[in-house]
Amino acid sequence: MAKKIGINRSEKRANMNKGTFTGVGLGPGDPELITLKGFRALQAADIIFYPVSAESEGQYHSFSANILDQLQVYKPCEPLLFPMKGKGTQKFYDEAFLRIKQEYENGKNVVLVSEGDLFFYSTFGYIFKLAKEAKIPCRLIPGIPAFIAASALGNQPLAEKTTGLEVIAKPESFDAVSKALKHQSTIVIMKMSVLKGWHSFLKTTGRPFLYTERVGTGNEFFTDNAEELEFRKIPYFALLIIYPENAN
Ligand code: SAH
Repeated sequence: MAKKIGINRSEKRANMNKGTFTGVGLGPGDPELITLKGFRALQAADIIFYPVSAESEGQYHSFSANILDQLQVYKPCEPLLFPMKGKGTQKFYDEAFLRIKQEYENGKNVVLVSEGDLFFYSTFGYIFKLAKEAKIPCRLIPGIPAFIAASALGNQPLAEKTTGLEVIAKPESFDAVSKALKHQSTIVIMKMSVLKGWHSFLKTTGRPFLYTERVGTGNEFFTDNAEELEFRKIPYFALLIIYPENAN
């Protein structure tokens, strides 16, 4: 028998005067790359929470806030601080979740947005877990992940026929990437800025690739030429697609 998912009747009763909680994937940066369903959920929200990450020197960044601004959804928006690294990140997730829970329990339609897709290397996953533990039902509206949007800037399909697709996030070394290259799949590398020396690495692999930065924003950059990476500072919002040898 299939396992029952969702909430049971007594949980439903307990949720009666509560609001709703919806996760919306905003897509990779271009405000037109949100789904219609996601956009409608934003319009129906009483409050929209968006993640903000603190970088060094107390600078706050929110890729999601930029997308929201461009969508011109005139709803109360509130940042939730999710530091990207360091100890004690759980405390921030707990605090963020408490704010969401508060609004939800006050009967509000709460939306939490996430850049790209919600379940693809997103902090949304941590909040989702807390919502599940608290038995708060959560509706998820997926978004276009950055690697799919990046792939549309290339001049060849991401994967075809029997080609596999492998995603590596924050590669620990170029050796680890080389190992993956042996599989003859298409390799997507996220959070690639953790390694320095992509220019020489890509030259040695000899594989066709597409390097992209800030896809879908006004600062978008992409190239399939390793030389253009020699002096380039790789930002956090960069990703690489390495195609199989026989591609093209
Ligand atoms: N949830 C996002 C991924 C967030 S993890 C998604 O679905 O795509 C952050 C990593 O995603 C970055 O280090 C970068 O590798 C990639 N990324 C996210 N947005 C990007 C963009 N607009 N352009 C290029 N890379 C992006």
